[in-house]
Amino acid sequence: MKGLVQDFQLTLPYMLRRAEQLYGYREIVTRRPDKSFHRYTYADFVVRAKKLAVALKKLGIKDGDRVGTLGWNTYQHLEAYFGVPTSGAVLHTLNPRLHEDDLSYITDHAGDRVMLVDETLVPVWQKFRDRVNVEHAIIVTENGDVPEGMLSYEELLADADESEFEYPEFDEDQAAALCYTSGTTGRPKGALYSHRSTVLHSMMVSLGNTFALSEADCVLPIVPMFHVNAWGMPYASVLVGAKLMMPGPHLDPASVIEDFEQEKVTFTAGVPTVFLAVLQALDKEQGKHDLSALRAMAIGGSAVPKGVIKAFDERHGLKVVHAWGMTEMSPIGSVANLPTPVREQSEDEQLDYRAKQGYPVPLVEIRARGDEGFVPWDGESMGELEVRGPWVASSYYEAPEGADKFTDDGWFKTGDIVTIDEYGFIKIMDRSKDLIKSGGEWISSVDLENALMAHPAVSQAAVIAIPHEKWDERPLAAIVLKEGESVTEDELRDHLAKDFAKFWLPDAYEFVESIPMTATGKFQKLKLREQFEGYTSAKG
Ligand code: ADP
Repeated sequence: MKGLVQDFQLTLPYMLRRAEQLYGYREIVTRRPDKSFHRYTYADFVVRAKKLAVALKKLGIKDGDRVGTLGWNTYQHLEAYFGVPTSGAVLHTLNPRLHEDDLSYITDHAGDRVMLVDETLVPVWQKFRDRVNVEHAIIVTENGDVPEGMLSYEELLADADESEFEYPEFDEDQAAALCYTSGTTGRPKGALYSHRSTVLHSMMVSLGNTFALSEADCVLPIVPMFHVNAWGMPYASVLVGAKLMMPGPHLDPASVIEDFEQEKVTFTAGVPTVFLAVLQALDKEQGKHDLSALRAMAIGGSAVPKGVIKAFDERHGLKVVHAWGMTEMSPIGSVANLPTPVREQSEDEQLDYRAKQGYPVPLVEIRARGDEGFVPWDGESMGELEVRGPWVASSYYEAPEGADKFTDDGWFKTGDIVTIDEYGFIKIMDRSKDLIKSGGEWISSVDLENALMAHPAVSQAAVIAIPHEKWDERPLAAIVLKEGESVTEDELRDHLAKDFAKFWLPDAYEFVESIPMTATGKFQKLKLREQFEGYTSAKG
């Protein structure tokens, strides 16, 4: 027997209509390229998103067509987040920091018919436009020049008649947005989200045990809108009617801190590198800023060192919430909010949990597979994490070669090697390809890196495997020192020896100027391994 409830499809047109009916008064603020502020309301935003949908139809864009974007976190990008999918097309955000070979590959693979290009990113677009079959480039500028042969976003909107817009009734399984992985593990692959998965993910992001977003919040997404939908924050914020502070291209610590303070930001999220820079800036200007409105900062994308969580707590009264996710998961999978038994433990013990990647959010299920089947949730046994849920990819877009990432019973293999503890807390030990296998034992590069970065002289540390005749692989640590600091190899070894078994301690420490980073702010270990190619360890 079926339940007697209405067949209500979960779609972005619904979310836009809700914003129109309820939150017209709420503000959306954007840092323009020249650093000045653009301000308007949800009412203005909805009108322009509708006009964009009308304009795309006039250009001949049909249901399911892909519309690419090259843009920062701006109000116009938010208009595309809603205008494109409510027109029936699929929003495809591209990461402008990628190399033009990758950008042309991704644009071609997605089959983008239109590209929305932020005025500051026209040079990026010019580098690959001749290599792709995009019919229209639309330049997003308030009053700047539009190069010949390209269209003006503002003119398109001015010519579009809002009254031609009708809220469509879609099937919730229709595709809404397409994001490519950054290719740290081979060719970029497309994760294709549906309207339903986007609405459900937005609800989950807003839950108290996730990021607790509400109408009372002012949200500043530091994570770019071209990186997994800015972790779903733009959609979630519009669902709940939160004020949005869009930082535009200005992600330097001084601008971000000014935005926090001036707009009374309550919630923000981004990768550790940005927050490390924010921490250093705040340390230098101790007591100068009033950030009392900021209730939480979600950090993820790579591991947050314990020392960073503690430093924000103790020196600035700011709360870090560690989160884990993947492009293939829309992206949120787990958040390190503490369960009651852990909240009753000492501060230090709590910190250990906050430095883990957290437990699965509602509707995400996890399990970890070791050599001999699924591992127990004992916080010690390591295995590859597998996940499933309503916003987890079921396959890659037009990419049969990614099929091995899915199990026969339909779970997604994350490639992350983890332990899971009694509370379901995940601890990421490594990505499978970065684990160091020494004498048949696994060494976690992430654990060593976090411990090294907790040393007061160390700014960044990345650990990779180097070959060893007897042990197969041994760890090498590449270290970037903080400005004006120094430390010896022996001091670093002693620092690690306090917490790690002897066989975990790196055989070599190399002091470097910088560590190669990916376009999404993670250590590029592939490059680092190339840098140290031929380096072997002969230590006993
Ligand atoms: P890509 O897979 O192209 O690097 P993603 O943004 O999808 O891009 O990266 C997902 C991966 O990032 C995860 O599989 C995991 O290895 C890593 N990651 C994400 N969040 C965290 C975190 N909080 N701690 C450690 N690693 C993380």
